[in-house]
Amino acid sequence: MSTPEPVLPRIRPEIAALPPYRQGKAAGAGGFKLSSNENPFDPLPGVVDAVHAADALNRYPDATAARLRARLGERYGVEADGVVIGAGSVSLLAAFIQAAAGAGDEVVYSWRSFEAYPSLVLVAGATGVPVPNLADGRHDLDALAAAVTDRTRVVLVCTPNNPTGPVVTSDELSAFLARIPSDVLVLLDEAYAEFVTADGAVDGLAERVFETHPNVVVLRTFSKAYGLAALRVGYAIGHPRVLDAARSTAIPLSVTAHAEAAALASLEVHDELAERVRQIVVRRDALAAGLRALGWRVPDAQGNFVWLDGASADVARAFEDAGVIVRPFPEGVRISVGEEEAVARILQVAESAR
Ligand code: PMP
Repeated sequence: MSTPEPVLPRIRPEIAALPPYRQGKAAGAGGFKLSSNENPFDPLPGVVDAVHAADALNRYPDATAARLRARLGERYGVEADGVVIGAGSVSLLAAFIQAAAGAGDEVVYSWRSFEAYPSLVLVAGATGVPVPNLADGRHDLDALAAAVTDRTRVVLVCTPNNPTGPVVTSDELSAFLARIPSDVLVLLDEAYAEFVTADGAVDGLAERVFETHPNVVVLRTFSKAYGLAALRVGYAIGHPRVLDAARSTAIPLSVTAHAEAAALASLEVHDELAERVRQIVVRRDALAAGLRALGWRVPDAQGNFVWLDGASADVARAFEDAGVIVRPFPEGVRISVGEEEAVARILQVAESAR
């Protein structure tokens, strides 16, 4: 006798239809995992010791990660209240979107951009308004501004844009912000800021955009340049009263003591970090130039990844067959910049797949 199907709890239909987050595939032995924009280096000096030292596993972490907020505040010249820490910047994106946008509200973002944006908007109960990128992979800031209506509560700006690569410049951002009502929250997602080398690129923290525009919050992460993706720690900087919204909606105690300790330790090794970032940038620029020389369309690559515009799923499969795990999207293929030895292998495959 077969057991009858159990009656399952009712789930909001839009959530039941939502596919789970798609993680980059792992690589086999001898292969390279270049599918999640991760950092190929071992933890920075002092980080593992700091994690081991945070050994009181029976105690909850400090709920606001006050030491890390104070340290980041010092570094960026803001009060500790002007910093909020999250379990990865994706959790801060979720907290801000939920705080500002609900049923009937709209969230405007460029597309294609970070995969999590549409689902975070949907989970909040709001309506996503995707605006296609320009042909060269940049945000279409005119179209983004034009998409803002009186229902818009949040605009997401991703610079450099994941997965296409180009940045928004300071001048472009100023002109854009002048067109956005000051009661609309602008989330400036700078997850890859440390890798940027383009002249004129916006740096929301150096430029203190949140002072001239209190509706702007800048988001950064320890997952990419700092190589702490496994520990989940990111931060947002902005007007303290705007940040209060995320303090209210964030899942309490989700930033672990170990993540905070690791982030604090990694902020102390500035030269080593800068050297690692420099090496990734050298590999990135070599990859982008090599791929362009082979005839691929590669937009300006300013993160730790390059974008093969228009490359098909077959191309992604050719990389995979050669042990290079990349991330296919409907509009192209994204390749993270990882190990130095991967560069030659990528170029080899890219030549034969052309
Ligand atoms: N923003 C962008 C643009 C990203 O690409 C990512 C990670 N892929 C994140 C935010 C989130 O990073 P994390 O949660 O690891 O800080």
